[in-house]
Amino acid sequence: MDFETARKRMVDRLVERDRIEREATADALRTVPRHEFVPPERQGAAYWDRPLPIGGGQTISAPHMVAIVTDLLALDPGDRVLEIGTGRGYHAAVTAETLAQIERDGGSDESDDAELYSVEYDPELADRARETLSEHGYDIDVRTGDGYEGWDDHAPYDRAYLTCAPESLPDRVVEQVRPGGCVVGPVGRGRQTLVRAWRREDGALDRETHGGVRFVPMRRGDD
Ligand code: SAH
Repeated sequence: MDFETARKRMVDRLVERDRIEREATADALRTVPRHEFVPPERQGAAYWDRPLPIGGGQTISAPHMVAIVTDLLALDPGDRVLEIGTGRGYHAAVTAETLAQIERDGGSDESDDAELYSVEYDPELADRARETLSEHGYDIDVRTGDGYEGWDDHAPYDRAYLTCAPESLPDRVVEQVRPGGCVVGPVGRGRQTLVRAWRREDGALDRETHGGVRFVPMRRGDD
C-alpha cells in the first residue's frame, strides 16, 4: 500500500472510532505526510497509530494524540499559536494545515493571517524540523531554546500547546496567552494528565482535565 492510501485509511479509522472530532483536524491528518517527518528507518510504521522514536531520546506522539491536542485547541481562523516542543515538526505541520483548513471553511482562500511559532530545545531536531517544514511549504518559525520561556517576541498568542510534559504549566507560556485564549498540554511527572486551561480576563486559569496521557518530559536547562 502506498503512503497516501495508508494515511487515509488510518485517519478514516480514527474518525470512525471518534478519536478525531473536528473535520478540519481530520483533513489536516489526511494531508500531512507523517512519513516525511520520521527517521527513514521508521517510515514503514508512519501510518500505524503509534508513537515513534525521532532521535535524541524523543518521540513523536501517536496520530490520535496529535488529533486530540489539535481538537482541544479549538482553533479559530487567523489564530496566532505557540507550540512548545517542535520535535521533527509533524504536529506543527498538522496545526498549520488545520488553521489553513478552517480558514478555507470560513470562506477565505488565503491563510496569511494565522501564525505558528514553535520552540525546540534540541538544536539538531530544530534544524531538521526547519528543513522539513520549509521543504513541504510550511511557513512556521522555529526557535532553538527553552520552552519554559515561551517566545515573548510574538506574544500574545490565542492558543499555546506543549508536546512535552512539565510538572506544572510554565508561567511564562501562560502569561503569553491572551485572556480568552487557552493552553493545552500534558502536565505532571510520572503520571501525566492532559490539561486545557482557559485564561480568564482577570488572568486566572480555568482548568479542565482530559484524561491520563504519556508524553516525554519537558527538559530543564540542567537535565
Ligand atoms: N511535536 C513533535 C514531537 C515532540 S517530542 C513532533 O511532532 O515531531 C517533544 C519535544 O519536546 C522534543 O523534541 C524535545 O526535545 C522537546 N522539549 C523537551 N523539553 C523542552 C523544553 N524545555 N523546551 C523546548 N522543547 C523541549
